[in-house]
This record gives sequence, C-alpha cells and structure tokens, in this order.
Amino acid sequence: MEAIYDRDIDRGAIEGKTIAIIGYGSQGRAHALNLRDSGCKVIVGLRGDSGSRPGAQRDGVEVAEVAEAVKRADITMMLIPDEEQPATYLRDVKDNLKPGSSLAFAHGFGIHFGTIVPPDNVDVWMCAPKGPGRMVRREYEIGRGVPCLIAIHQDKSGKAKAIAAAYAGAIGGGRAGILETNFREETETDLFGEQAVLCGGTTALVTAGFETLVNAGYAPEMAYFECLHELKLIVDLMYEKGIEGMRESISNTAKYGDYTRGPRIVNDETKATMKTILTEIQSGNFAKQWVAEHAAGKPNFTNYKAAAAKHPIEAVGAKLRTLMPWFQTDKAPALTK
Ligand code: NAD
Ligand code: MG
Repeated sequence: MEAIYDRDIDRGAIEGKTIAIIGYGSQGRAHALNLRDSGCKVIVGLRGDSGSRPGAQRDGVEVAEVAEAVKRADITMMLIPDEEQPATYLRDVKDNLKPGSSLAFAHGFGIHFGTIVPPDNVDVWMCAPKGPGRMVRREYEIGRGVPCLIAIHQDKSGKAKAIAAAYAGAIGGGRAGILETNFREETETDLFGEQAVLCGGTTALVTAGFETLVNAGYAPEMAYFECLHELKLIVDLMYEKGIEGMRESISNTAKYGDYTRGPRIVNDETKATMKTILTEIQSGNFAKQWVAEHAAGKPNFTNYKAAAAKHPIEAVGAKLRTLMPWFQTDKAPALTK
C-alpha cells in the first residue's frame, strides 16, 4: 500500500464546496472543526432535539436540520452511529442529495452490507481516520495528523478519489499519510479487529485472567493490577516499538514466559474460532444479527451491558483508580514517555 501525502493532494478538489457533517459526536466534531480550520465551508446537520447542539454552537459551527444541511451540501459526510444511519438516510438524506454531489462515510458498514443503498447520480466514498475523534482533532491542532484510509465505492464525477484525498488532507490525514483501500476490506478488517483482538479479544482475555487469579484466592486488587492496569504499559510499548521492541523492555523471565505460554493461551482452537468469526463477518451473518438486534430495540445488547457493569473487576477498578493521581487531572502524563 502506497501512502499519499499533502504534497500529492490537490486541495482544489474541495475548494468552494459546502460540506455537511451529519452528527457531532467523536468523529463529527473532529471532522467539522478540522475542515473549518482548513478553510472549508462546514454545516453540521443535527436533529432538532440533538444533545450535540449546545456543543456545536459553543464551537461556533453552523448547525442546521439534517435535511437542510444535505440540501445545501456538495459533500455529505455521515457521522452518526452506523446502526442509526439507515433510518436517517431514508428520512433526511436520500431525497435531498444534490445530483453530482458526494455521499461520504468514515466506515464502510452501511454501503458494504447494503443497509444504505445510494442513488447512482452521486459519488460515494470513504475517509476513515485511524484514530478516535479526539485524537484526530488534537493532532490537527498541534500541526500533525492521524493516518486516514480512503476508498471509492461509486465514482460518478470521475473525481471521487481526488475529492476523498482532498477531504482526508483537510482533516489532517495528509500530514501523516493516506492509504487507499476498498469498502469491503475496510469493513471486514475493522469488524474482525474489534471483535477478535481490540475489544472482544482483549476484554475477554483480561477478564479471564482476573477471574483465574481471584478464584484461586488472590486479592482482586492484585488481579486488577496484573491483568488490566499493566496492560497499558505493554500496549504502549508495542504501539511505539512493535512486539519485539516491547520485549526489550521486559525481563528475561517475562520474555521466557511470554514465548512459551502465550501460544498455549491463544492456540489452534482460538485461531479456528477467529477464522469462524471472520467467516461470519464475510458472509454478512454478523451484520444481519446486529441489524436485527438494533431493530428489536437492542434487548440482548442491553443485557450484556448490564451484566458486564456488575462484574467485580469494575468495582475494584473504580476503587483503585482513585489512587492514581493522573486520573485526577486532565493533564495526565503519558506512562511510558
Ligand atoms: P458517535 O456515537 O460519537 O456520534 C454520534 C453522533 O450522532 C452524535 O452527535 C449523536 O447525537 C448523533 N446521533 C445519534 N443517533 C442519531 C440519530 N438517530 N439521528 C441523528 N443523529 C444521531 O459516533 P462516532 O463514533 O463518531 O461514529 C461515527 C462514524 O464514524 C461511524 O460510521 C463510525 O464507524 C465511524 N468511525 C468512528 C471512529 C471512532 O473512533 N469513534 C473511528 C473511525 C470511524
Ligand atoms: Mg475500527
């Protein structure tokens, strides 16, 4: 994959265009403010009763109803939660898209799994920063950027890639590097990563480690430190230096245990399950299940959330975090620098 940078981008592709940012959450606020500070005309599209209105007004960005923002836009960027997008799309977006304009996304779920079917007279593309909105905004403000993925689903104008690249540049991505992928690859790898490793895999591993120690009679506080708290130190090292780079910072005893025990925890059976999970994503079964869950009012989702909140790791963690002075201030020092 070849990265492109600001020097490769023609910002003229979005010059003078009006950009509607639909939603003002994690990504919405970061895109809107970075685009505005890059000289773009931005309107934030929100529901009348949206809890995000006061924040947007405080930031001094223009706010309009979703339908109104889309009508005026040359680029409509959908930044409300993926499961909410289809209803908003049908109600306020679809019939208000200007022919020849762009319909844009920061994740491929809706387009790839067909929960959103755009008309054929618009460009459809993606610009997905590889970081949470707060980081996208913070990096931009200090003159850097977060790497972005772009992808083209539909190129009506023949300029979709130039427009997507210019957009990615205007939110700061061109300072760090922009990579081109496609909707299928972005969507399936994103879902797999969050299910198998980042969210599902990690929380299950941490919880199982904690339970194993507590059930064997060790103090929950010790189990919390060893299985959750110290994870950040290890992850920060892996993030900065890779896996072997991280191992340079741990003891030989830790390294020996790592090399010999790690593959017993994540073993062939675990890998077979990972493959099954990937297959469920690829076949659309996961998407179908999640769309049905959302349509039913998220009954299971709500139960999972309530049960997880009651796990003893939460209570012990809440208590221990009051001992950590860096959580008492917003000027938290980085732990590994
Ligand atoms: P979010 O949950 O932070 O923000 C949601 C925004 O949409 C809020 O302003 C909320 O008020 C509004 N909203 C919620 N329900 C709505 C509805 N029914 N109608 C209208 N507005 C509604 O969302 P996010 O995490 O910024 O995600 C937005 C998109 O960006 C998603 O496609 C997501 O996959 C993608 N993305 C997110 C991240 C991330 O780190 N959070 C990273 C890359 C891509
Ligand atoms: Mg992701």
